[in-house]
Amino acid sequence: MIIYGGKAVHLKSVQSKTGICPSCKTQGSLLISVFRKHAHVFWIPLFPIGKKGISQCQHCKNVLKTNEMPKPIKREYDNLKNRTKGPIWQFSGLGIIVILMAWGSYASAADKKQESEYITFPKEGDIYEYKIKTGSYSTLKVISVSKDSVFISPNEYEISKITKIHKIDKPENYAEFSYAISKNKLKEMYDSKEVLGINR
Ligand SMILES: [Zn+2]
Repeated sequence: MIIYGGKAVHLKSVQSKTGICPSCKTQGSLLISVFRKHAHVFWIPLFPIGKKGISQCQHCKNVLKTNEMPKPIKREYDNLKNRTKGPIWQFSGLGIIVILMAWGSYASAADKKQESEYITFPKEGDIYEYKIKTGSYSTLKVISVSKDSVFISPNEYEISKITKIHKIDKPENYAEFSYAISKNKLKEMYDSKEVLGINR
């Protein structure tokens, strides 16, 4: 269950010197306050969703919403609203999301860079994850490497989900024989996404 909603944070209050309370007619008794709302998920503030305000008479306690304020009071409120900044922490969630996304794309770029190095300079023991024509997935194991070729042994098992491919990557699952693939062909298989991932 996702718990979300809006919450208002008090920013600032000022006492109006000239404003007259429409209820008790006292001058200078109005306290004008501005709040900023933010959206939150699981109590983590995501981003601000606008300001709101009230005034309260310190004499008769009458509360006015912005749409009930007489014009001079509304003008004072608008002034206060425009010059009052909200706290940056109301953007926390948005900040976290941006950082996670940046980290995710950095991590995946670093991963790809490493894989492209692995495919160019294969090593004994490398495991290639690949897609079979039937739509299942399996692995190939590098047994030895020569100048232009790699000798690989196929996995005798396959699995329908690539996320579970590690389950079939066991030494006893690989065939007794091996065959050669040229390094160029291997690179082609990686570039055409026939080989989907490399583990070292
Ligand atoms: Zn009043």
